[in-house]
Amino acid sequence: MPEIRQVNRLVIVLGDQLNLDAAVFDQFDRGTDMVWMAEATAESTVVWSHKARIALFLAGMRHFRERLRTQKYRVDYQKLDDPQAKPTLGEALRSAIRRLRPNRLAMVRAGEYRVQHEIERVAEQVGLALQVFPDRHFLNTLEEFEKHAGNRKQLRLEYFYRELRRKHSILLDEDGSPVGGKWNYDDANRGSFGKDGTGNLPQPPTFRKNELTKEVLKLAGRRFVQHPGSLEDFNWPLTRSQAERALDVFIEYRLPLFGKYQDALWTEQPFLYHSLLSSSLNLKLLDPQVVIRRAEEAYTNGHAPLESVEGFVRQVLGWREYVRGIYWHFMPEYLERNYLGAHLPLPDFYWTAETEMNCLRQAIGQTLQFGYAHHIQRLMVTGLFALLLGVDPKLVHEWYLAVYVDAVEWVELPNTLGMSQFADGGVMASKPYCASGRYIQRMSNYCSGCRFDPAKATGPDACPFTTLYWDFLKRNRQKLAGNNRMNMQLKNLDRKSSDELRAVQKQATEIREQLT
Ligand code: FAD
Ligand code: SF4
Repeated sequence: MPEIRQVNRLVIVLGDQLNLDAAVFDQFDRGTDMVWMAEATAESTVVWSHKARIALFLAGMRHFRERLRTQKYRVDYQKLDDPQAKPTLGEALRSAIRRLRPNRLAMVRAGEYRVQHEIERVAEQVGLALQVFPDRHFLNTLEEFEKHAGNRKQLRLEYFYRELRRKHSILLDEDGSPVGGKWNYDDANRGSFGKDGTGNLPQPPTFRKNELTKEVLKLAGRRFVQHPGSLEDFNWPLTRSQAERALDVFIEYRLPLFGKYQDALWTEQPFLYHSLLSSSLNLKLLDPQVVIRRAEEAYTNGHAPLESVEGFVRQVLGWREYVRGIYWHFMPEYLERNYLGAHLPLPDFYWTAETEMNCLRQAIGQTLQFGYAHHIQRLMVTGLFALLLGVDPKLVHEWYLAVYVDAVEWVELPNTLGMSQFADGGVMASKPYCASGRYIQRMSNYCSGCRFDPAKATGPDACPFTTLYWDFLKRNRQKLAGNNRMNMQLKNLDRKSSDELRAVQKQATEIREQLT
C-alpha cells in the first residue's frame, strides 16, 4: 500500500460536477488537498435508470478523474466494480474519511436536495466541517432567485428571463431594449413540417469511444442488464472537448432552423434541429455562458435568425435557470405535491414502448434507444398522456428521472411535476398543458401511421388522447374553472351533450382499466 500523505481538505466532486472551473478548485492545494469521487450503485438504482444514463455518468466521471490526474491533482476514486465499493454515496464517503482522515470537507453545492443532505449528514456524524461553495456554473445565484421571488404571488418565467437578459446584456440593443423590439419570439417557434416531411436533416456528430468508454459501456451493460434502455447507439459527449464539438456542430448546422421547428415532431426523427446539449450542460462539461454567447454571435454575424437564437437563449438562460430556482425554492415539499389528486400507476408500456399509440411508441421507443426525447415529445406526448390518464405525478417524475441521459432532479422535477403534470397547482405553468390528439396531429405526422383517429373521442378507433382530454376537463372542471386561461377549453367542454360526455367517460374508464 503506498503511504497516504496527510489530507487537509477532501474535495467532494459529484457525478454532475465535472468542472475544473468550479469554485472549489480555486484554492486547491495539490500538495495537501485531495479530490474524492465515488461511483455508488445506489445512485443508479434510486430510480430504475436507463443504461445510457448510468454509462454517461460513470464514463464522464472516469474521464474527469483522468483529466484531474493528468493535471497532478490527487484523486481518491471509488469504482463501482471495486471489491470494497460501498453501495451508497454516504457510506462511501464515511469509509473514505476513515481511511484518509482529512481535516475538513469541501464541495460545490449539490444539484439534488437528497444528495446535499446525505453529505451534510455524514459531515455532521463524523464531526468534520463542510465548506459548501455556490455553483457558479449557473448565471443566477440561488440568493438572487430568492430576491426575485420576494413576495411575488406568481413566479413566471417571462419576468425572470427579462431580468437575466438585462443583467447579463444578452440580445440587447445599446439602449437596453431587446434586439428586434420583442423579448420573446415564441410565436415563431411553432412551425411543423409540411407533408413533404423534414427533408435532409443535419446529423449530430459521432464521438469516438476510447478504451475507458468501452470499459464503462461493458460494465453498465453487464451490471445493469435488467435496467431499461439500450447502449447500442450510445453517442453522448463525455469530455469537455467532445461537448465543445457538439456545440460547434449545433451552432453551425442546426441552430438556424432550431427556432422554426422547436415544437415540431416527426416519425423516426428523434433529434430534428435540437441541440442535444442538455447532458453536457448538466454534467457541467459545458459552460452555459459560452453556449449563450456562441448563439448570440451566430445572430450578430448573420448565421442564424433571431427567432432561433432568442428561442434557444430562452431555454438555456430562461428555463434552465428558472427551474433550478423553483426547485430549491420549494424543496423538499415540492416533491409531494399532487394538486389534481392523480393516483394511477404508470402504464407498463412506458418501460417497453409496446403500445398501439404511434406517438407514444415513437417517443418512448427513441427514449429507450438513445435516452433522449426532445422537449415537445416529453411535454406533449409522454407527459400529456400521463396527465390526461391521471397517473400519480411522483411515479411520472421517477420515470423521467430514470430514462433520460440529461435527467438530474433539479431540472427534471419542476419540468415533470410542475410544467407537465400541473401537480404544483400552477407554480411553473399558468395552466395545465392539456390537449387532445389533434394537437399531436397538427405538429407531427404520427397520426397518419396510427390506427387511431385524433378527431374521434369515442368508438373503436377513437384516439385515447382525445377521449382522455375531454374526460380530464370534465373530471377536473372545478379545479380549473377559476383559471381564465382555461375558459375557452371549458367552454368547448360545455358545448358537449350529456350523452357525448357519458360516452367519453365510459370509454375513458375502459382505457384506464386496460392500462393500469
Ligand atoms: P434543446 O431543445 O436544444 O434546448 C436547449 C437547451 O435548453 C437544453 O439543452 C436544456 O439545457 C435547456 N432547456 C430546454 N428546455 C428546458 C426546460 N424546460 N427546462 C430546463 N432547461 C431547458 N431537461 C433536462 O436537462 N433534464 C431533465 O431531466 C429534463 N426533464 C424534463 C422532463 C419533462 C417532463 C419535460 C417537459 C422537460 C424536461 N427537460 C429536462 C427539459 C427539456 O425537455 C430538455 O432539456 C431538452 O429536451 C434536452 O434536449 P436538447 O439538449 O436537445 O434541448
Ligand atoms: Fe397519438 Fe392519437 Fe395520433 Fe395515434 S391518433 S398518433 S394515439 S395522437
